[in-house]
Amino acid sequence: MWVLATDIDNTLTGQETALRELAAQLDALQRQELLFLILATGRRLEQVLSGFAGEGLPRPKAIISQVGTEIYLPPFAPEMAPLAAWKERLLRSFSRRRALRFLEGIEGLEMQPEMYNTALKVSVFLHRAPDPEAAAALVRERVAASDADDQYRVVWSSGKHLDIIPAQAGKGNAIQFLLEHKSLDAQRLVVAGDSGNDLSMFRVAPRGIVVANAQPELQRLRDEAHEGLFFATAECAAGVAQGLRHFGILRETSSARES
Ligand SMILES: [Mg+2]
Repeated sequence: MWVLATDIDNTLTGQETALRELAAQLDALQRQELLFLILATGRRLEQVLSGFAGEGLPRPKAIISQVGTEIYLPPFAPEMAPLAAWKERLLRSFSRRRALRFLEGIEGLEMQPEMYNTALKVSVFLHRAPDPEAAAALVRERVAASDADDQYRVVWSSGKHLDIIPAQAGKGNAIQFLLEHKSLDAQRLVVAGDSGNDLSMFRVAPRGIVVANAQPELQRLRDEAHEGLFFATAECAAGVAQGLRHFGILRETSSARES
């Protein structure tokens, strides 16, 4: 069984027709038990659930939300609690108050809405800082210079969103936890993404798909090209589909049907 862990925004979303086509193909693979689909996103759970009907998102077997700080398993429901084993593991080494100290005095910084600021995640906007890249780099330096650099991770995405999360969190670590938790084959993992908060997924997967519309943080992966890394020429869901064909995963459906 293949495992596809994909980001949602600007990786799946962006072209409605392409997404609906891909979602139907992923649904078919899942029905044949050839695929375990994980949606890994910065969104909150509710925003993923409303996307099933509203945006035509495929229904996954697991949802990693809030940049890898929360994991949800079916049956999904709006008010459900995240997987306790993951949450408790992360809470052991994370203090929100401590995380906020790394952001003190940064000019132009704005807090993201309260719903994105949880016990396990401090999320701010930096796009109004005089130099957003430099501001993000400063936060990274502060964490690196502290005695807690092994406890906090800075995630910088799309020149706008900065998150401080537990070092053990992030999409990549959450995926690894899920692989173990569900006894899935790490060698059959494929990831897909478009921005900086997806980078950790590419670090844990033997195969990755970078959509054509990817942000510079992810385009940087071109410097470390290897045969498991596919740079799509198509954008969003069409790019993901292109990558899945490249790795022979979508073809597997048709051959399974023929046999
Ligand atoms: Mg994205």
